Amino acid sequence: MKYHIWSLGCQMNMSDAERIATTLESINYTPASTEKEADLIVVVSCSVRQSAIDRIHGKIRNWNLRKTKEPLVTVLTGCVLDEDRLAFKKVFDLVFDIENLAQLPAMLADKTAEAEKEIENYFKIIPRYTSAFQAFVPIMTGCNNFCSYCAVPYVRGREYSRPHTEIIAEVRTLLKNGYKEITLLGQNVNSYGNDNPKEITFPELVQLVNDESDDFWLRYITSHPKDMSDELIKKFIQASKLTDYLHLPLQSGSNEILKKMNRHYIYEHYKKLIEKVRAEKPDIAISTDIIVGFPGETNEQFMHTVRAFEEIKYDMAYISQYSPRSGTAAAKLEDDVPKPEKKHREKVLTDILAKTALKHNKKYLDKEVTILADRYQKGVLFGRSGSFKLVAVKTEPRDLIGKFVKVKITDANAWALTGEMA
Ligand code: SAH
Ligand code: SF4
Repeated sequence: MKYHIWSLGCQMNMSDAERIATTLESINYTPASTEKEADLIVVVSCSVRQSAIDRIHGKIRNWNLRKTKEPLVTVLTGCVLDEDRLAFKKVFDLVFDIENLAQLPAMLADKTAEAEKEIENYFKIIPRYTSAFQAFVPIMTGCNNFCSYCAVPYVRGREYSRPHTEIIAEVRTLLKNGYKEITLLGQNVNSYGNDNPKEITFPELVQLVNDESDDFWLRYITSHPKDMSDELIKKFIQASKLTDYLHLPLQSGSNEILKKMNRHYIYEHYKKLIEKVRAEKPDIAISTDIIVGFPGETNEQFMHTVRAFEEIKYDMAYISQYSPRSGTAAAKLEDDVPKPEKKHREKVLTDILAKTALKHNKKYLDKEVTILADRYQKGVLFGRSGSFKLVAVKTEPRDLIGKFVKVKITDANAWALTGEMA
């Protein structure tokens, strides 16, 4: 029997998919090379944005058609809001909560999702890592922040911190197996340990991972500006393996909108954090998440986000058009910014980003950077720098994938760097 996993959404969902793979292989499923060849399709869903849900609905017809001709089992898990769950229950053979993954074999056998909640066991499943040199290591799940637009607290529950001993054990095994990049994952990594008085803090965890002796890069996502402590900023200087990259979601530059979003900080606080980080690490690359067209966002309020983009000068930004998520506080507000206006605001920000990103990227010209090579395509080697810049290198195929490679940068545009072997 063959399985295919279709993962939508963020790195957490990719990490879910790696654990689902191990679970299925423990009951003798093998990976299908294409979706068509699979007897079992597992969708790791993402209710955080409507676009992912729409993509799933788009596929269901096709799967139902297949079911009339051949045996096919479809399963849905991941981040699923109640409203989506109701609709999907009718069309999937099984819909289950990801924290009950350890019980998937039994649920598959009798097609019921009645299971005890057991997040501890979810973390004990050893993932079937997608890459042989880059790994996502979840350190916690859930979120307690209840940003007014966000589905995460509803679909992943409250914060649960994985015991640090387990995290370190997983990191150690990865490093022993030659992994070169470890990304610690959580919706709000800064509050790691807060749910358990005996647990260590996030800066302490970063230090512990950093102290592992091997030559590797350490990343983490995502930080919340309200919890970004001076201690964590200090770690950026002290922890030698933390790369020169910080992803710090701003969401909006307007204090009025931030308040409506329930973000618990003002723009001035955020700006100060960035200044502190840059004072210690002037070359650090900074990216963010933004939502445009939050309910009631006026043009004037949006202009505050424009100003923030001009002031902060981001390296990268992930800009989303607001979509209401059922059950969240913001869903009770009228989604009154018209779609074309959301699109326009997204474009305005993207245009500023293109300029600031280009300016940052030009600083790399004629310099040597180290990349972790991750693929070779049509005569070009690709990888990312520590600062998370995409780098393309023209070179003969060589055994470089999964290795740190020194590259001299010869060209730069807003979204990527080009170079030659140094
Ligand atoms: N935990 C992370 C991100 C979680 S969701 C954080 O706190 O930053 C990833 C991103 O999706 C968010 O940062 C936000 O920009 C976007 N997002 C979440 N809900 C959204 C919604 N209802 N509409 C549009 N974008 C949304
Ligand atoms: Fe969602 Fe806010 Fe939690 Fe991030 S911090 S997951 S945006 S509720």
